[in-house]
Amino acid sequence: MSEIRALLREDLQGRTPYGAPQLEVPVALNTNESSYDVPAVVVQTILERVAAVAPGLNRYPDREFAQLRTALASYLTETTGVTLTADHLWAGNGSNEVLSHLVQAFGGQGRTALGFTPSYSMHPIISRGVGTTWVDGLRGAPSGIFDLDLETAVTQARETQPDLVFLCSPNNPTGTALSLEVVKAVYDAAPHAIVVVDEAYAEFARPGTPSATTLLEGRDRLVVTRTMSKAFAFAGVRLGYLAASPELTDLLRLVRLPYHLSSVTQAVALAALEHADTMLGMIKVIKAERDRLVEGVAALGLAPVPSDANFVLVGGLADAGQTWQALLDQGVLVRDVGIAHHLRITAGTPEETDAVLAALAALDPSHR
Ligand code: PMP
Repeated sequence: MSEIRALLREDLQGRTPYGAPQLEVPVALNTNESSYDVPAVVVQTILERVAAVAPGLNRYPDREFAQLRTALASYLTETTGVTLTADHLWAGNGSNEVLSHLVQAFGGQGRTALGFTPSYSMHPIISRGVGTTWVDGLRGAPSGIFDLDLETAVTQARETQPDLVFLCSPNNPTGTALSLEVVKAVYDAAPHAIVVVDEAYAEFARPGTPSATTLLEGRDRLVVTRTMSKAFAFAGVRLGYLAASPELTDLLRLVRLPYHLSSVTQAVALAALEHADTMLGMIKVIKAERDRLVEGVAALGLAPVPSDANFVLVGGLADAGQTWQALLDQGVLVRDVGIAHHLRITAGTPEETDAVLAALAALDPSHR
C-alpha cells in the first residue's frame, strides 16, 4: 500500500469511486443525459444573463439564492399541483450535492442509512463519505424482480430503524416509479428517519404517476429531490434541488459551504426556468424513443424492464460485459450497471435509437 493510501480513513479503504466512463463516441447513451442541445432561444437568454452578472463577479453570490428558490418553487407548484414556497426549496450543484447536504446533516458516524438495491449508486457512496453505516436493503419484489415491494420495505425499515431512508422514483437503474403507498408506509415504519425520495427522473414518468411532493404536507421528515440535469437537458450546469418542510431546509444551512451556488449558476438556472416550457419540450420525443427502445429490444428477444424514466434496463443478455464491449466497438456507449445479464440504455434521439437497435441486431444472437 502506498504511503498516501495508508493515510486514508479506514472506512474508505478499498472503496471505489463513482465511475461512469467518459468516452468520445458517436452514440453516448450511458449517463441518462439529454441528447438534445440547449435550444438557441435559451442559449441567448443565458448569454444575456451571464453578461449581466459578469461585472459583479468580484462579489460573492446571494448566499440564500432567494430568487432561484422562488423560481424552483413556482416550477414545482406548476408541474405537481402542490403549493410550495421558497422556504420549502433548497438547491445545490447537482442533486448529488443536495443529497450530500442531507447526509451531512442527518447521517454521519454512528448513524444508519437504508436503501433498496439496485438503486442509484451514489446513495451509499455519499452516505459512507461521512461515515454513515449503509444498509443494503432488498427490493424483494413479487411482481417483477425490480419493483420495491411495500411489505419488504416496511419490514426492513422497522428492523433497521434508520436515520435516513433513500427511495428512488423512478428508480435508477431499473426505471420503474414507486407507488405513493410505499413512500407513506416506509415513512410511518421509520419514525425517526429523514425519508428521501430521489425524483431525478420524475418528468419522464408515465401518466398516473404522482410525485411524492403531494405527500409533503404534514410530513416534516419527507424530502423530494429533483435535478435540472435530465429533463431540463442541463447536466453541465450542475443544478439540483429539493423540496421539504421549511424547518428541514433551514437546517441544511448548517452544512452547506457558504456561497455554494455561484452567481453564474444562479443566473443560468434562472434563465432556463424562465424557458421551462421550451427546455422541457423534448420530453415527449424522449419518452417516445424510450418506448420504441422497449419495443425494439423486445423484438430482438431481449427483456426490457418497463420504464418511467429516460432510460431502459435491458435484460436477457448472455454476458452483459461482452455485449457492452461489442456495442462500444460499434461506437455505441451504454451502461453496465453491474447487474448480471442487464445493460442500461439512455433514450436519446430517433437516430440514436436506430443506431443502438442496429448495433444490437448486428450481434450474434447467442452473444446478445
Ligand atoms: N439521482 C439519480 C437517481 C440519478 O440517476 C442521478 C444522476 N445520474 C442523480 C441523482 C444526480 O444527478 P445530478 O447530480 O446531475 O443532479
